Parts: sequence; C-alpha cells; structure tokens
Amino acid sequence: MKTATSSAEIKTVTTHYIDGSFVESHGREVMDIIKPTNGQVIGRVTLGDEEDTKRAIAAANGAFTTFGRSTREERAKILRRLHEAASARQDELTSVMVEEYGGVVQFAGLLVQSGVGAFLAAEQALQELPLTRTWGKTTVTLEPVGVAGLITAWNANVLFICLKLASAVAAGCTVVIKPSELSSLQTRVLVEALHAADLPKGLLNVVTGRGNLVGAELVRNPGVAKISFTGSVGVGKSIMRDGAETMKRVTLELGGKSPTILLDDAVLDQAIPSALVMAFMNSGQACAAGTRLLVPKSRLDQVKRAILSAMPAFPVGDPADPKTAVGPMVSQKQYDQIQSYIRKGIEQGAELLIGGEGHPEGFETGYFVKPTVFVNVKNDMTIAQEEIFGPVLSVISCDSEEEAIRIANDSKYGLHAAVLGTDLARARRVASQIRAGRVVINNMTDDPQAPWGGFKFSGVGREYGQYGIQAFLETRAILE
Ligand code: NAD
Repeated sequence: MKTATSSAEIKTVTTHYIDGSFVESHGREVMDIIKPTNGQVIGRVTLGDEEDTKRAIAAANGAFTTFGRSTREERAKILRRLHEAASARQDELTSVMVEEYGGVVQFAGLLVQSGVGAFLAAEQALQELPLTRTWGKTTVTLEPVGVAGLITAWNANVLFICLKLASAVAAGCTVVIKPSELSSLQTRVLVEALHAADLPKGLLNVVTGRGNLVGAELVRNPGVAKISFTGSVGVGKSIMRDGAETMKRVTLELGGKSPTILLDDAVLDQAIPSALVMAFMNSGQACAAGTRLLVPKSRLDQVKRAILSAMPAFPVGDPADPKTAVGPMVSQKQYDQIQSYIRKGIEQGAELLIGGEGHPEGFETGYFVKPTVFVNVKNDMTIAQEEIFGPVLSVISCDSEEEAIRIANDSKYGLHAAVLGTDLARARRVASQIRAGRVVINNMTDDPQAPWGGFKFSGVGREYGQYGIQAFLETRAILE
C-alpha cells in the first residue's frame, strides 16, 4: 500500500541534464518514488520521452566533435575533476541510496565509495593503456567509438553510472545516460555533483525515463554508436537484437546464479560467514550474489549447524542502521518475486533450513523478506537455476570436488564464483576450472583494475580498468 508523506517532504524532479544544463522534461508522465522501508511516497519524478532523448543525443554528438579528439591528458584532467566533484557529495549519495533504494548503509557506503573511486581508477588505467602502436610505416591508434548510451539497473545505480561514465570519458566518448527510473533521487544528487565538475557542454547528458521509451530510443538511434547496459537478460537480449539495426557495439552486464564451492578442507567458522556475506550482500539484490553453496555431502550436517549459528550476524532491519545486514527489497514487485521463488523451492521439495515466506517478525510494513536458506537442493530445481535477486541461498551437496566443479558450471550464467578452502594451490586449481568472469578465493574481494563481466547469459564484454576503456574504443590503422 502506498501512502504519501507530507507534501513538504516529497522531493520533486522535473528536469533532465542536457548540454550542460538542467532542462524541463518534454515527457509528461509523473512517477512516484516509494520508500521501501514503509511504502510511503517520498518523491515525484517527471519521466523523459523520446524527444528528451533525441535532444540529449544531439548534444552528445555536438560535444563529440571536439571531445572525440581530446588528448590523454585532457581526459585525465576531466576524470580527476569528476572524482573531486563526486567525492564532495559522497555522504549524501550514500544516504539517498539508503532512503530511496533501501540499501543497507554498511554496503551502500562501499558501493558509493567504489563509484566515486572509479574516476581515479579509470585515470590510472588510461595512463597505462597504450593508445598508439607503430611499426614500419604502420600506425595503429585506439579511437573513441562515438556517443555512448549508458543504461543502468537500480541495485547500484550510482556505482554503475560512475563506472560507465569514467570508462567512456577515458576513451574520449560523450554520453547519454538512462538511469533506472527507480533511482531518480540518487541520480539527481549525483548529476548535481557532477555538474560542479564544469565539464565541456554536452559531454554528459542524463535523461531519466522508462526503458521502453528513453532506453529504446538510445538503442535504435543512429546517433548512438555504443550501448553499455547493466540489467536483466531479457532486456539485454532486446538491446542486442534491436541494436543490430544500427550496428551498435554493446556491452551487456546481466544476471548471475553464482556458485560458492566449499572444499572439504575449509574451516567452517570462517568459510560459512564468508559464504553468507556472498549470498546476502546488497540484501541479496546483487548480480554477483553467491546464491548456490556447493558443499561436500560428508560435511552437510556440520554446514547446516554452522549456517544456523552464523545467521544472527545477518540481521534484517532499518537499512540506515549500521548493524543491519539485510534491508528491504526495492519494490513490491521484487518482494512478490522472491516470495514466489521461496514457495517454489518448498513445492519442489527443497528443505527449508531457515527463513521462508512472509515478512520477518516486526517488519510487516515495507518490502522486507526473511533471509532464507534451503538445503538438499538439486541443481535442476528452479531455485538453483533462476536468478532470484533476493536473500535466498540454495545449499547443494556434492560427492566430490569434480562434481562440485561440474555443478558450478551447470548453469546458463557465468558472472561470478567463489572457492573456499585452506589449501590455496587446490583452491586456485578449482577456480581455474570455473566458467565465470570472476572467481574469488576465500573472501568477497575487489580490484578496480580487474575485469568484470560474464560468460554465457551473464553478458557480453567487460567493465573496469583497461578492459572497460577498451569497450569504448575502435582500432584504426594508418598505413603509408
Ligand atoms: P532491467 O533489465 O529491468 O532494467 C535495467 C535498465 O534497463 C533500466 O534502466 C530499465 O529502465 C532499462 N530498460 C528496460 N527496458 C528497456 C528497453 N527495452 N530498452 C532499453 N532499456 C530498457 O533490470 P533491473 O530490474 O533494473 O535490474 C536487475 C537485473 O540487473 C538483474 O538481472 C541483475 O542480475 C542485473 N544486474 C547485473 C549486473 C552486472 O554487473 N552483471 C549488475 C547489477 C544488476
């Protein structure tokens, strides 16, 4: 149920950011922004349409004629200015993410920090990236691909915008960003911050609106050379299909059903909390969430006990409270989807170890769900194959290390994976057999220069570091 907070507290956004200014929306649809902890209206945003998008694309093309020929040092300077501008509003960016999305502050703070840091990480990668190679009478240069359309999801909107923008700028591209409409208040704070970086007009344009209007216009418009998209497999497929008409270059960061392989030499006191962090990070609304835990059959009983004793360290609660590990889901739709998966797990015969359907006690309003762990899950069950995008973990027992590797790879996805064990050489050997874009050993860890992206249905292309910049470049050879 949605109720309105007093109108004085409701934030209103009616403008987009085009050609260096905030301009009134041509699109007229007004959408409510709902606070996930209590279902109250906290914002009203006027959504853009195709006309707003076309204006933004024209501005980006105008700016590309100059910025497309910028030097490495000019781009590096702009990246440093973007970093400074975003840093100035870092705390506000975190608090608006907590309020609008319900992200738990302990994790939202890290995501924002990583977004702000993306500008400096891209600068470092740019400094190290050879943009020119020559031999004999041949010169090969890496050229910006053109205007880029950047489309983001709601679960880490600020991080995605910063990351994509940083790589695009490092490559010399100008951009039109279509953020998730569910992240309009977060986007507003970020764009106000970036406006202070005093960018060349038209380099950065942001139009908030529906995917089937603003997003689709970016995908079909011949004035956009490249789409970098983070979101669902279904929309990713439509971008690839519809983008083919104008030969769009695409980077697609899609879903996952990431395996965590617990080896039989793992120390459970450390390994199980680590596995639960991977399952429940960002309240389970994470593309990389480790939602399948593969354990040796001989250790299943110990694993069950270790999970039950570790669960109190993952409390549900107010996302603004630093002790909270799992906040509300972003929307009623997301809440309903998770409930239906939990029901399906029970119907298909998985054993519920903890959690289950409904709201956790004391959190009956808002979109809170119970962190849920199923054991005795078979890998062909729906809860082991489909991305749930909530705090639901499936524990699958395996007879051997070989079987664990086979089950880990028996998924249409291949975004992320983890291996937990004491013998590092063995853990590395197992990691090297996992068909996923990133595999972490023993802990959820990050490296802003390491590539991010998926095998199989988890996507196409890579982000972060030099790999992320290359995604916005074309190669040109000049021969004398
Ligand atoms: P979504 O695909 O519904 O929406 C993503 C974005 O695409 C939104 O901005 C949306 O408005 C836009 N969009 C919708 N229809 C469009 C169209 N026809 N053309 C162009 N754009 C369109 O996804 P979501 O629900 O926002 O996000 C959840 C999904 O994102 C999950 O599957 C998750 O795994 C994935 N994700 C992946 C990564 C990664 O790095 N691989 C990171 C985060 C989220």
